[in-house]
Formats: sequence, C-alpha cells, structure tokens
Amino acid sequence: MIDLAHPEVGFAVGVVRETAQLAKEMQQEINIAALAKEDRSPVTVADFAVQALLGRSLEKTFPHDPLVAEEDSGLLRSAEGQTLLERVTASIIRVVPGATPEKLRNWIDRGGNNPTDRFWVLDPIDGTKGFLRGDQYAVALALVVKGRVEIGVLGCPNLEGGFLIAAVRGKGCWRTPLAKLDRFEKLQVSERTEATQARVLRSFESDHTDLTQMDELLRALGVKAKPQLMDSQAKYALLAEGKGDLLFRLLSPENPDYEEKIWDQAAGSLVVEEAGGRVTDLDGRGLNFSAGRTLTQNRGVVASNTHLHEVALEVLAAEANKKT
Ligand code: AMP
Ligand code: MG
Repeated sequence: MIDLAHPEVGFAVGVVRETAQLAKEMQQEINIAALAKEDRSPVTVADFAVQALLGRSLEKTFPHDPLVAEEDSGLLRSAEGQTLLERVTASIIRVVPGATPEKLRNWIDRGGNNPTDRFWVLDPIDGTKGFLRGDQYAVALALVVKGRVEIGVLGCPNLEGGFLIAAVRGKGCWRTPLAKLDRFEKLQVSERTEATQARVLRSFESDHTDLTQMDELLRALGVKAKPQLMDSQAKYALLAEGKGDLLFRLLSPENPDYEEKIWDQAAGSLVVEEAGGRVTDLDGRGLNFSAGRTLTQNRGVVASNTHLHEVALEVLAAEANKKT
C-alpha cells in the first residue's frame, strides 16, 4: 500500500489533491461556449493559483527543498498583469484567507529553480489546452532525488470522474478517487504483447507530435486502431491503468529540436514504471531528470506496457535508418 504517513508521500498526495480540486472548480466556472478562442486568461489564473498554493505548502512543509515549476510571476509584476493578479489573488483567498498579492508572487517564484540533488518538479496545469476545452488536464508533481524520480503524483479531475494517481519508487502505482482518498487500488499496465492490437495514445494537439511519422510507425507495427488523442499526463495514467498499451511523443516537424520540459514527464514516467511499464526516449535512452529544466539529453518519449517497448523502438530505429 502507499504510505500516507511517509512525510514526502503524504505531502505530495495532500497538496495535489487540494490544488487539483481548486483547478476543477476553476474549470467548472469557465463558460467554454462564451470563451473567445484566443482568451487564455482562465487557464492562466488557474496555472498561477495552483503554483502559488503549492509553493506555499512546500515552503511550510519542506522549506529547504527547491521547486522547479513552469510559471514565474513576471507577468503579475507588470502593469498589464494587474487585473490577472487580482483574479489570482481572489481565487487563492478562498483557500488561504491571508494571501496578499506580494506573498502570492513570492510563492510562485519558488518555482524558478534549476534541478539540484533533491528537488520537487511541478506542472501546475499540464494540458492547458485541454483545460480550456473542458477536457483532460493534470496537476503533476514529482520528487526527484539524485536524478531519479522517487514520487510522482497526478491529479486528474476529469479522468473517469476524477482520480488521483500516486506512484512511489519500489512501492507501486495507486489510484484513488480525488473526492475522497479512501479507495486506493493498485494499477497494473496491460499484458498485451501483440503490436497489431495495440491501443496507442498521443497528444490531442497535432503540433505536439509528427502526424506523418505517427502514421508510418503505426503502419510498420501493423496497428489497426486509430490512436486515442488526449491532453496532458492523463495519458500516462491511462497506460498505468492498462487502458492503453503504447504512447509516443514524436517531434513536431515545426519544432524538431524541441526538448521536453521535465515537469511534463517526471510524475507521469514514474506512474507508468511503477505500474509495470517502461519509459524511454525515442532512441531507447532513459529520461535524465538532472540535466536541467528540460530533458536536454533526450529526444521525445516512448512509454509502454513494457511488452511492446522493444518492438516500438525497433520500428523507430528502422525508420530513422531509412531516412539517413
Ligand atoms: P500534451 O497534452 O501531451 O501534448 O502535453 C502538453 C505539454 O506539451 C505542455 O505542457 C507543453 O509543455 C508541451 N509542449 C509544448 N509544445 C510542444 C511541442 N512542440 N512538442 C511537444 N510538447 C510540447
Ligand atoms: Mg505541461
């Protein structure tokens, strides 16, 4: 079982639950129908609010631990960011009555660190486009020690009614309803070994992948079904639940040198591994979480139920050889 009395595990589970529930309330308040396509402010408010709350909790619980997180308070310190700052403050005050704009900006800026020997890594709202569409997103938090992810927690308010998924190295991957942390079930990846039957997952956003290469790969593997499109690390949760078998993060042709952000992969990778899956980059290398705020030593990501990993890497390598 997952040990909530363990200080770091209890902290990570508690804070992801609290912030994911705040994010859920904020998503429910958005009138998606009325939202202009270019208006990203609802997700920006939620992003800042989650990072501020988490920065505050970390400061109280583990004051010496650095945080590496996606947002910084630059915009909230500028003249044009003042309306936004008021909205973020109003949303935080619901949870922390004594919050002030200055405190809030400082909590957010706790996330401006680079990886060290031991650090926490946070994506406050992973899958911002899914959040705005009323679709999947995740609050993703991980603890990295000496380059290895030790704890990974995903809060997925829209995944099958709302789940929290927590993985602890060597202790498995567990899922419980977000509303009440009282029904932990152990997750296990699928047993599928036949590539032609594979259920493949990919980003909803087509510019986060390479559609032509994806088609070629699926053809080479003989995969029959179309990939399932989903935003955020909720995809890793699905793999861990055994509801998908293979996940590819290919490099967009518009952005071939894209380096994955560590907050987009840290929690999700442990979730998959502790459920029995495997995660590497497109060249079969393990993900290196101590190289910086991005995965500078890696290219893209392949995640699988383990059984289909080698064949996926072989097909990727064969394809790369054809091109050279
Ligand atoms: P997903 O919903 O799986 O596509 O993941 C969302 C994450 O993709 C966001 O948090 C971004 O940090 C990241 N992202 C942004 N641009 C790209 C890109 N060109 N390729 C891959 N991922 C990207
Ligand atoms: Mg993200």
